[in-house]
Amino acid sequence: MKLGKLDEQCPKCGCQDKTIQRKLDPEYHAHGSTRAFVCSECGYVFKKGEDD
Ligand SMILES: [Zn+2]
Repeated sequence: MKLGKLDEQCPKCGCQDKTIQRKLDPEYHAHGSTRAFVCSECGYVFKKGEDD
């Protein structure tokens, strides 16, 4: 798993704090789980499906 995205600033608020969310989604169950990098400040979603 690459963490390069964690260095990106949020385009909305400029914050670099992020939360990695993992959620099981039936739609993506074949891939196990989806990940989303979410800005800790404003909740902006950076990326989903890091495994692609
Ligand atoms: Zn933000």
